[in-house]
Amino acid sequence: MIKKIFNAFETLLFPTVCLVCDSRLYDKEQYVCEYCLKRRFPDPNPHKNKSCEGILLPDQVYFQEAMWKFDQGSSLQKLLHHLKYHGLGALGIEMGIQLGNHMKNNPGYALWEEKAEEIIVVGVPLHSKKLRIRGYNQAEKIAIGVGRALNLSVFDESLLTRVRFTKTQTRFSHLQRIENMNEAFLVVEPELLTNRCVLLVDDVFTTGSTTFACASALQKGGAKQIGIITLAVA
Ligand SMILES: [Zn+2]
Repeated sequence: MIKKIFNAFETLLFPTVCLVCDSRLYDKEQYVCEYCLKRRFPDPNPHKNKSCEGILLPDQVYFQEAMWKFDQGSSLQKLLHHLKYHGLGALGIEMGIQLGNHMKNNPGYALWEEKAEEIIVVGVPLHSKKLRIRGYNQAEKIAIGVGRALNLSVFDESLLTRVRFTKTQTRFSHLQRIENMNEAFLVVEPELLTNRCVLLVDDVFTTGSTTFACASALQKGGAKQIGIITLAVA
């Protein structure tokens, strides 16, 4: 019995099958198999435009990029659910590494690359209430992976923080969402942002209200340019 419990626990920490398709993982694969990583999900930005699928960007956002296109009820949803609710912070780091590698082909990012020492990576902050429940911020885990893949400094909530608990937005119109998010974020140490380009990281880009509000706070805090990067775009 004890052995059985231990095995179940071990499988959760180090899964031996792909979290998306349940096929067996090989030596170098972690959490997600090579096929799912490279071929299962469509690229939302195959022509490498400044934003995915013609999303309009506010002035402070230099580019917006996502690795995968999201569709409701899909395998991708399952993967992101693991990331948020199954305590798989390490999965976030692994996916962040994939996202960082994906960014190496982005023309917007390529223009920044010459000034790599000016770029910092920041995850969209989670409110402390949610952080207490979940135990970790999945966006910050992804940010750590991005920083690792691109060899960039990663900042946590000591730089950008959420100042108030926003209402659940599902019933809100687009305008109400923007209103709700405004001034929800604050730059704690603006001196760290002077002359910096920021790669702002989140798990999913949906309406953009959250990431755009963060970008606006980062710009007010002194950031030069902001790029928004997410695992998926809805
Ligand atoms: Zn798979």
